[in-house]
Amino acid sequence: MQIASLFEQKKTVLSFEVFPPKKTSSIDTIFKTLEELEGLHPDFISVTYGAGGNAGDTSTCDIASVIKHTYKIEPVAHLTCVNYTKDEIDRILDRLKENEIDNILALRGDINPSLSPKKHFHYASELVSYIKNKGGFHVSGACYPEGHVNAGSLEEDIKFLKMKVDAGAKHLITQLFFDNKYFYSFLEKVREIGITVPIEAGIMPVVNKAQIERMVTLCGASIPAKLSKMLQRYENTPEALKEAGIEYAIEQITDLISRGVDGIHLYTMNNSYIARKISEKVKGLL
Ligand code: FAD
Repeated sequence: MQIASLFEQKKTVLSFEVFPPKKTSSIDTIFKTLEELEGLHPDFISVTYGAGGNAGDTSTCDIASVIKHTYKIEPVAHLTCVNYTKDEIDRILDRLKENEIDNILALRGDINPSLSPKKHFHYASELVSYIKNKGGFHVSGACYPEGHVNAGSLEEDIKFLKMKVDAGAKHLITQLFFDNKYFYSFLEKVREIGITVPIEAGIMPVVNKAQIERMVTLCGASIPAKLSKMLQRYENTPEALKEAGIEYAIEQITDLISRGVDGIHLYTMNNSYIARKISEKVKGLL
């Protein structure tokens, strides 16, 4: 099933994101998480892709296949392009097709300074158009309410986002943000320039100070004063920080749903406890 139809059927879509276990852990560790996530009945689950340049890595496809065939939930496979040749991308697409994976989140991937890019794909929009021309997949893309870290300005980033949508991205998922005002202002700007596809808000619950500081450094998301105070207050009490982080995410999501957001994409960090606590609170609002 191509996930575009979900946005026609539902007022608000709820999706989860998981990542393949580290190479040092067994792939089985993800199955326990999936078993627990299954009971929360998300509309789809997306699986991240390592940007590392190892086209032989099949874990994203393997996990997406289990999500589809064992848990009967629609999967979305992330796919990055900047470190791959067209032949390598073709092999990954063939494998996704063999596993009946219909949905791809097409990404550029971060530029790894220790790898030279393969030069076939420079931007996600090129991958979107490549997959679209091959046919048979629903293609989604990423977007950035506060602008992508490499972009000269938010306006420039949105101009390139329009190219990605025009190339065939039928649905967008945002980078995490902690202040809904950036999302609302972004939404206004993208709708104004004619981007009409559904846009899911990416929400990452804060459960660990170091984790959030790392994420913010990587993606440039702003930390509002309320969240900053919370991080300081519970700095030395991880359990209390986790519960406060869950409450913070629930408040963000409740506000987004009340303002008619197309979907909520929860960055679960493979933590089914957090996903359950949040889903239980917000499911009745969807
Ligand atoms: P693009 O859309 O190509 O944009 C990248 C930059 O190039 C932006 O600054 C944009 O403004 C600029 N740009 C775009 N088009 C042009 C153009 N034609 N000319 C000049 N400049 C242009 N990374 C992973 O490695 N694996 C994952 O699984 C993964 N999942 C993600 C999921 C989501 C929802 C999000 C938001 C991000 C994810 N990422 C993942 C991170 C992503 O790979 C990085 O943010 C990456 O740096 C940009 O990817 P993109 O697809 O947004 O790139």
